[in-house]
Amino acid sequence: MFPDMTQPLVDPFQRTIDYLRVSVTDRCDFRCVYCMSENMTFLPKKELLTLEELDRMCSAFIGLGVKKLRITGGEPLVRRNIMSFFRAMTRHLDSGALRELTLTTNGSQLERFAQDLHAAGVRRVNISLDTLDAQKFADITRWGRLPQVLRGIDAAQEAGLRVKINAVALKGFNEDELFSMTEWCADRDADLTWIEVMPMGDIGNEDRLDQYWKLSDLRARLAERYTLTDIPERTGGPARYVRLEETGQKIGFITPLTHNFCESCNRVRLTCTGQLFMCLGQEDMADLRPALRNHPGSDAPLEDAIRAAIAKKPKGHDFDYSRQSVDGRVSRHMSHTGG
Ligand code: SAM
Ligand code: SF4
Repeated sequence: MFPDMTQPLVDPFQRTIDYLRVSVTDRCDFRCVYCMSENMTFLPKKELLTLEELDRMCSAFIGLGVKKLRITGGEPLVRRNIMSFFRAMTRHLDSGALRELTLTTNGSQLERFAQDLHAAGVRRVNISLDTLDAQKFADITRWGRLPQVLRGIDAAQEAGLRVKINAVALKGFNEDELFSMTEWCADRDADLTWIEVMPMGDIGNEDRLDQYWKLSDLRARLAERYTLTDIPERTGGPARYVRLEETGQKIGFITPLTHNFCESCNRVRLTCTGQLFMCLGQEDMADLRPALRNHPGSDAPLEDAIRAAIAKKPKGHDFDYSRQSVDGRVSRHMSHTGG
């Protein structure tokens, strides 16, 4: 049976896929201990899709019904000339085909780019920040410096971007900052989302189980100080939200390990080399690059390849820490598929 080219992207489990996350580079100016080893080998530059090819890819997905595009990495803002890509995507916002253009960043380059991002139509940005302690920040990111990121956050807010802070919950590392980070975000009118550490990629000597801080525990501790009200909001992703009645702020929990969020999954992930991962927690992928490169004059083969890939989207992931070992581990790094 031929796929119906007029229909939006729907997978075998009747989930409509309207959210694409694109990793535009695997490189980064930080070396966060849970994400990368210190001596990472990156892809040769010629392997990467050019910015023009990324534009064609994203535009094909948008043509097939993708409404939300999140640019990530590696660190997306270290990709050379990335602002021209953001500016190119503005046309899809202007036409109404795309509802949201956004990014996830470590914040190091925001002082430079926040205004341009806003001008390109970006309205919200996720900024990763695991600690407010300068020494701990340097330790966890290895190469990052806190003041630079804080200036980036200020610049983002001054430019009119809505900021959400993403923090990886790390046992023995930022447990003691639960309240101070909550208050810091409340003072800045920023939402805060906690992420459970995931078993992705070889990161050297670090032990995943040592790092794992269960979000159910984090939530219970938060409830000792604040009144938590569940917000029914679902983004189709692994985040669940509460409102803190005392501050009015929104706190998110991304719990891929203690919670099964797959039934409402609406997203797929494209790497900087054109591989499409239908599930963050599975190895299966479709290489879209041949369909793109071998047919410079027509997007039809690329659209066919995208539909064929969506038809293979698995039901869910297999991450499991429950047997005191890390099962369902995937070998690629988060920076490859994009977080
Ligand atoms: N460099 C950008 C940043 O740090 O925001 C974007 C890419 S980064 C891979 C995206 C998100 O993934 C970050 O919030 C990071 O903390 C998170 N992350 C990286 N490795 C992770 C892991 N093993 N488990 C859980 N989250 C992880
Ligand atoms: Fe870079 Fe983001 Fe990974 Fe940290 S989490 S090393 S900032 S890609």
